[in-house]
Amino acid sequence: MDIFGIGAGELFLILVLALIVIGPERLPEVASQLGRTVADLRRQANQLTAEFQRSLELAAQERKEQRLAATVVAPGAVCPSCGARSTREARYCASCGANLVERPADGGSGG
Ligand SMILES: [Zn+2]
Repeated sequence: MDIFGIGAGELFLILVLALIVIGPERLPEVASQLGRTVADLRRQANQLTAEFQRSLELAAQERKEQRLAATVVAPGAVCPSCGARSTREARYCASCGANLVERPADGGSGG
């Protein structure tokens, strides 16, 4: 058993000190309470660490997806209203919301 990284000697010293300070009658009660508190704190710390790591991973993933979306943008789909580039599949401009589907009919093609 290695709580807080203390050795057996130090643990014994702490136990003796606790015996002197708290008294032999209340010692078991206080010790069990202390153990429960330590276990609770450890669990909370673990939960916090897990949550922090998850949020970090989520943020990294979002950033990656954003970068991917930025590189995916195809050239050619330029908004006629504001000039912002959008994906070829996009129906509306991501910048100003103009309709990108309504393109001027290219007449005069073929014969
Ligand atoms: Zn636009």
